[in-house]
Amino acid sequence: MSKYAEVIIDISYNKLDRPFTYKVPGRMQDVLQPGSLVMVPFGKGDTIRKGYVIALKDEFDYDPAKVKEIAELPVNDSGYSEDDDGATAIALAAWMKNRYGSTMAAALKTVLTSRKPGKPVKTREIELAMPREEAEKQLEIYVRKHQVARERLLRELLEVPRQPYSLVTSKLHITAPVIRAMSSAGVIRVTEEESFRNPVVLSKAEKDHKELSDAQKAIVQGVLADYDAGKSTVSLIHGITGSGKTEVYISIIKGICERGKKAIMLIPEIALTYQTLLRFYQYFGERVSVMNSSLSESEKADQWERARRGELDVIIGPRSALFTPFADLGVIVIDEEHESSYKNESMPKYHTREVARELARLKHACVVLGSATPSLDSYYKALTGEYRLYTLSERLTGGTLPSVEIADLRQELKNGNRSILSERLQELLQDRLDKGEQSILFLNRRGVAGFVSCRSCGTVIKCPHCDISLSLHRGGRLVCHYCGFERPGVKECPECGSPYISGFRAGTEQIEEHLKIRYPGARVLRLDADTTSRKGSYDKILSSFANREADILVGTQMIVKGHDFPGVTLVGILLADMSLYAGDYCAAERTFQLLTQAAGRAGRGEVPGNVVIQTYQPDNYAIEYASDQDYVGFYREEIRYRSTLLYPPAAHMLCVQMQSEDEDKAEKLAGQLRELFVRDDPEALVIGPAKGSLTKIRDQYRYVIYIKDINYDKLVRCKDRAEAFLAYLVKIGRDPQVQVQFDFDPVSAY
Ligand code: ADP
Ligand code: ZN
Ligand code: ZN
Repeated sequence: MSKYAEVIIDISYNKLDRPFTYKVPGRMQDVLQPGSLVMVPFGKGDTIRKGYVIALKDEFDYDPAKVKEIAELPVNDSGYSEDDDGATAIALAAWMKNRYGSTMAAALKTVLTSRKPGKPVKTREIELAMPREEAEKQLEIYVRKHQVARERLLRELLEVPRQPYSLVTSKLHITAPVIRAMSSAGVIRVTEEESFRNPVVLSKAEKDHKELSDAQKAIVQGVLADYDAGKSTVSLIHGITGSGKTEVYISIIKGICERGKKAIMLIPEIALTYQTLLRFYQYFGERVSVMNSSLSESEKADQWERARRGELDVIIGPRSALFTPFADLGVIVIDEEHESSYKNESMPKYHTREVARELARLKHACVVLGSATPSLDSYYKALTGEYRLYTLSERLTGGTLPSVEIADLRQELKNGNRSILSERLQELLQDRLDKGEQSILFLNRRGVAGFVSCRSCGTVIKCPHCDISLSLHRGGRLVCHYCGFERPGVKECPECGSPYISGFRAGTEQIEEHLKIRYPGARVLRLDADTTSRKGSYDKILSSFANREADILVGTQMIVKGHDFPGVTLVGILLADMSLYAGDYCAAERTFQLLTQAAGRAGRGEVPGNVVIQTYQPDNYAIEYASDQDYVGFYREEIRYRSTLLYPPAAHMLCVQMQSEDEDKAEKLAGQLRELFVRDDPEALVIGPAKGSLTKIRDQYRYVIYIKDINYDKLVRCKDRAEAFLAYLVKIGRDPQVQVQFDFDPVSAY
């Protein structure tokens, strides 16, 4: 029976980021635990605020009359009271605060994401409304009439006769009018019932269990043996798409569940396909649930509650599902582990892989990572023995690998072709249009800061200090986003003297226009940030393409993931160089991943596909290795570069970002911090300060400092020093009025 509780107030204000002590009222004595959410009076006016209990104690050396009392527990929220999980969550939050530099409140908020119990809701489901034989006849009719959407839905229902409405519309891309039409024709029935809000209710279909291959078995046995030996191992499975990774995850999770433990299965939201979900449901039935952004807040809260009560064995979801409150966690699987969505880009700026590893350590669980193109970081750790490496090298899905060719845009220019499409790509596009097959044109624009390159020889203007491409700023200046190096723009290529040197500006919209003029009969769809800003439009465009309502899909990296388009036999990567010169050290890695994935989009069906990679730098290693689909070759070359220049994973890097409405204040603090870091350790590799790449966003000025070191802890000390310095400035009444953020091993440029 503790008398006092230490509470962190949920407020994003550094100065208040410390525990405050409150009296525990008698009625809460039995329910309050570390990790509980509470409402407390705070500040002069005793405003009621949310807080997190981080510790309970009996003694408090202060006038009891002056200690405020906890006001209430949010309705029905018993926090983590039934197990020891609250303590783990707090330990994890403290670890995150220390490792990534954020307030304790922000770390706790991330780990304990608010859980509000909700009311039951109605779940809609779709079921087959006619006998199987009849349905099969109906299917033939749809096929004959080319009613592709209806055909797809019916096929799925013949596999699993009862499916959630939301899953059918969101993941299967079937529209409401189609469902209504099929329903009034008596083919399907839409049912509605009140449920305990499992977003997916599927009967555990008896699936033909696959006999694992020897290579697959070895992985499952290896991981489970480590687990049984009490080791919190991290295993990395490197295997191309279709090599049987998901089947391995399922077997590992089954093994863990047989041992009475629970599993967290992380998949980037964009890659979480209907087929993958179904496979898990077929194995785990209603003991599995899914967490994603299409769930409402209270639906999410319900999943946490079910997990907490032990009603679930497996949760599937993106990054945030890592914080599912399983008391007896056994395994965390991270699929597509290289995906940048696993990096949280708001405070605390954590890497999911690292937090998973720490959580696994606290829980004596194991971690399994999987990817066709592992992050440099994970592969490095696997080769140095920190992770266990497994490889799956055979493709089990059949289907021929696409043939990949490189189109040299310098040559095209010489031949007088100034269009965005090379001769070869034009030829293949026409061929696919003639044959009625589909094509995808892909513009890898992510993180494109506007580099300057020579269209005659491919030369890119780089920073002499950082070996990073310079970014084009307003007024034509060229700037390095790491060290701030600047030079005026160039009129001719320093290598070959060509006047065709400039920034590259084509966007998806121009390409769409161009295609419409060049191929007047073709049906073109565009998928990018503009066309998908409205809710549901992303799925709508993809479903329309999947239903073959268009011949060509033009888009950004949004199109390369997750979805299978068996009708696609041609993929064109319009300018591979784009992401290559994004102005940060991960650019080549990202390019390799994007190109490999994009190439994998072609030829999923029976017809072999073609891939054309257009570039001004045909001999760049990222492009060459991607066209050969050679991960290990790429890794070897890339790690050499990272080691030479001390970029992660060969070393570590801390980005300190200063942001203010007042440019002078941001600049001044940046200077002070730089001095502080250098004074502490004259050997330290302190780079900058430089102006942030989007120097002025929403009237905020940004400055960045980078520090590199082999030793991560040294960077943590720099962060601690900076925090202490800021606290000191505030204390002596000289608040710099600059927002400071830390980013360890950043994966994008600032
Ligand atoms: P990945 O996750 O690596 O893309 P999957 O696990 O999805 O690979 O497997 C690809 C395909 O091969 C799936 O259709 C799966 O059902 C099938 N498959 C996986 N393992 C086996 C196996 N041991 N025997 C036969 N088919 C398998
Ligand atoms: Zn040149
Ligand atoms: Zn530089």
